[in-house]
Amino acid sequence: MPCCDLCGNPETVYAQATRVGLYQRIYQKRHLCRSCFLSAVEKKIHNTIKQHRLIEAGDFILMGMSGGKDSQLMASTLSHYREKVPFELAGITVDEGIAGYRPIGVELARELARSCGIRHLVTSFQDLFGLTLDQIVHRLKHEQVFEDAQAQEKTCAFCARLRLKVMMVVAKAMGANKLGLAINFDDHVANFLLTLGTDDMATTLMQFAPYYMPFPSGIPHVKALTFLTDKEIALYDILNGIPYQLTPECPYSAQMVGDLMREQIFRIEETFPGFRFSVHRATQMMRPLAVQQMNQRVWVSCPSCFYQIPAGKAKRACSSCELIGVLESLQQTSLRSWETRLVASVCSQE
Ligand SMILES: [Zn+2]
Ligand SMILES: [Zn+2]
Repeated sequence: MPCCDLCGNPETVYAQATRVGLYQRIYQKRHLCRSCFLSAVEKKIHNTIKQHRLIEAGDFILMGMSGGKDSQLMASTLSHYREKVPFELAGITVDEGIAGYRPIGVELARELARSCGIRHLVTSFQDLFGLTLDQIVHRLKHEQVFEDAQAQEKTCAFCARLRLKVMMVVAKAMGANKLGLAINFDDHVANFLLTLGTDDMATTLMQFAPYYMPFPSGIPHVKALTFLTDKEIALYDILNGIPYQLTPECPYSAQMVGDLMREQIFRIEETFPGFRFSVHRATQMMRPLAVQQMNQRVWVSCPSCFYQIPAGKAKRACSSCELIGVLESLQQTSLRSWETRLVASVCSQE
């Protein structure tokens, strides 16, 4: 194993792909020792925060904490960042109700929040929507609400969209002005490639950035880990003793196209180091087009919630309200009071 390219230490832990020429797709492996690797990761996060003004004095950031490697690193880093900049920080964990998987993450998130002195809230799909994700998946299959192929996709939609919605409602109720999301470089690359050529492409282009405003009157998403890869984050957590949920993996993710895409990207990257960076550069080149498209959008309010949706789409409600509508019809009951109950539970946990 070669020595650390930065300090000459003979014990290295990581080989980082670094672009050699500005206009060439040539990448060299830069070998780093433990200490140089840890500082490189911290530097990347701090630069992202500064360059994109993710955190400013007086901010109140509510962050999503799942107990996974990404959000555990984000929580630990942001909690330390309070020594540099005065801002308020709180965490929320949404228990979607995935047996054998989620309880471990909830406990890890709770434990980390406690040790970092972060206010932490926990809420669940079961309490808010009457069903766990496991029950939702079972009912959707059993009652054939969607076509088979669609049902698979919908599992992730229920999970991701409703979780985000819950976080946005809590952020609003608590008076947070930013939502901290632990979305990393590999997530962004996969999400973008998955929407190539679809109507959602402009949105994923805009999302591939540390700061993203989902709709004009929304709460901005801040993503300090935007430029860190899966590998870098996992290794940082391990070397720095940040506990995170490694196993088991989410039982639903393995059947999803997103996971398949990630696997393929990983393979291509192994053969052509720097492939993911090229995808990122491509998104930067296309970004002005997406900005133009976004600026032309006319937004209308969702009739059921505070979300705004682009006008002209045949949709009547925002996608999370549509999903809640499906849950209402499954249970033959109205879930209208879920936001009120959520806000009440936030107040009681404070
Ligand atoms: Zn070194
Ligand atoms: Zn809505």
